[in-house]
Amino acid sequence: MRQDPYGRSQYGQGGGRRGGGLGNLRWIILLGFLVYGGCYYLNNRVVDPYTGEKVLIDNSIGVEEEKALGLQAYEEILQQEQPVDPNSQIAQQVRSIAQRLIAKVPEVEAAIAAEKGTQPNGNWKSFDWDVNVIQSDQANAFCLPGGKMAVYTGLIPVAKNADAVAVVMGHEIAHALLRHGAQRMSQQKLTQIGQMAGAMSGMDPQQQQMVMAAMGYGYLLPYAREHETQADEVGLMLAAAACFNPEEAVPLWQRMSEASGGQAPPEFSSTHPNPGTRIQNLTALMPKAMAYRAKFCPQGAAK
Ligand SMILES: [Zn+2]
Repeated sequence: MRQDPYGRSQYGQGGGRRGGGLGNLRWIILLGFLVYGGCYYLNNRVVDPYTGEKVLIDNSIGVEEEKALGLQAYEEILQQEQPVDPNSQIAQQVRSIAQRLIAKVPEVEAAIAAEKGTQPNGNWKSFDWDVNVIQSDQANAFCLPGGKMAVYTGLIPVAKNADAVAVVMGHEIAHALLRHGAQRMSQQKLTQIGQMAGAMSGMDPQQQQMVMAAMGYGYLLPYAREHETQADEVGLMLAAAACFNPEEAVPLWQRMSEASGGQAPPEFSSTHPNPGTRIQNLTALMPKAMAYRAKFCPQGAAK
């Protein structure tokens, strides 16, 4: 997702609380937070039906809460940016691509869950899907938790065809299905526990920053990259199942990285795997995508 609908709260550093005699207390506080953080981590893990992996999702962030946040963010975005006329040709085309992808969500989720030996979670059942086209030069798109989507007009010339638009939208829908928003919020909470531990135990601001930087590179960023790789895979299967040509994914991402010239919008730059890795991954997924197309799109090359 391009926008971060969850905001970010940050605990102040509280100034350096250093001094003699705090040595033991500091360790006790750190240990306390470590136990708290560990318990939080262990008690808030669920099996992701799409990967079979245990992921961190705060128990208090239900699908409904996530959806409400998504809706709030969507309304704010649509107030700031300009959606094109829903009856325009472009809006109709994008809506039809979205509808084809959405129609295949139940089957694709069930098929992937069966492969991974997991139970489909059916979160999409509570989604209120909607899609708008936003007038903008950015080659971008997003799908918020709860199913609210947008495609930026700047994506169209880079995508060039409906298959490539479907690959991008499939990727965005996959983020919502995989609850990456809730996972990110939960990771932020864990990070905040770490920040509080640092601040309260009297670590000096510089030490705290080093710890946070290590967490960013060692924990948060790889997670974000993994989310992108997962969204690429699930999105590709959705596009294939909805009768789009998954082979368009490779030239699409090549064009995306050329078009961006190092200035890609956030969704497609910082957290994304480098273009070479992404294209390798997608190429490796092609036989599976073609199998999904053969299975879920019996009419073959229907457009
Ligand atoms: Zn993404």
